Amino acid sequence: MNKPPVFRDTPFILSVEGVTKSFDGFKAINDLNFYLEEGELRTVIGPNGAGKSTFMDILTGKTNPDVGTVTFHRPDGHDVDLIKLKEYQINRLGIGRKFQTPSIYASHTVYDNLLLSLNRARGILGTLFYKLNSEDEDKINEVLKIINLTTSKSRPAGLLSHGQMQWLEIGMLLAQELKILLIDEPAAGMSDEETVKTGELLLSLEGKHTLIVIEHDMEFIRQIARRVTVLHQGSVLKEGSFENVKADPEVIEVYLGRQTRAEI
Ligand code: ADP
Ligand code: MG
Repeated sequence: MNKPPVFRDTPFILSVEGVTKSFDGFKAINDLNFYLEEGELRTVIGPNGAGKSTFMDILTGKTNPDVGTVTFHRPDGHDVDLIKLKEYQINRLGIGRKFQTPSIYASHTVYDNLLLSLNRARGILGTLFYKLNSEDEDKINEVLKIINLTTSKSRPAGLLSHGQMQWLEIGMLLAQELKILLIDEPAAGMSDEETVKTGELLLSLEGKHTLIVIEHDMEFIRQIARRVTVLHQGSVLKEGSFENVKADPEVIEVYLGRQTRAEI
């Protein structure tokens, strides 16, 4: 897929070009090209070992690719080469990742967890003794509403259900005012009802934030799918709507070959 993308309706926020990453000679990412528009909700799928996690690691600076470029097109018009940057620098630019395992402060309230995200620069103590200004307060209340946790704001985060904890973590990314949110399997371990709510939450962010969601659950992908990228052997195999991708013979072969077609 070394041709320019054809879907440029809005400016790109991220361009990945010719990226390769080998582990002991094995190319986990192989000449990958990937373009993301500002405000997109992109779903990335692919079989185990396709390179999805390695791709996220490269975007967040956890892993350095062997060759290629990763360019963040900042909303102010400046391009930044992410490959030269460290993890914290990339995070500071506004690219953040939600892992599957929650990294919340269990003994602090939902509200304080959001406050801590809002004010990372002040540190924990600084934040807890910091007098809120109304702008911060509005922001936290806005996030609480988006993640459906307004009525739980005074509860210790450790007492939330599994699904609620995941939403809180998404809220913590939102409080950081990130430009690009990377979310790895948001529906893992959730009940059906929580999964549907998570889909609604992600869809509500579309347009205001740019999101890359890695997911396995086909029902969930069907719910949230806009543009879907199928990774296979470290490269983009197909890109398109869920309907197009799921009907593609090559995708069925490599990604869904292990399942019966009726499940797709
Ligand atoms: P996915 O997330 O799509 O399942 P990964 O990015 O985790 O795929 O892995 C892609 C391939 O790269 C796999 O074959 C995996 O074994 C290999 N791999 C990933 N990270 C490492 C590493 N740190 N050392 C060696 N091999 C790795
Ligand atoms: Mg993975």
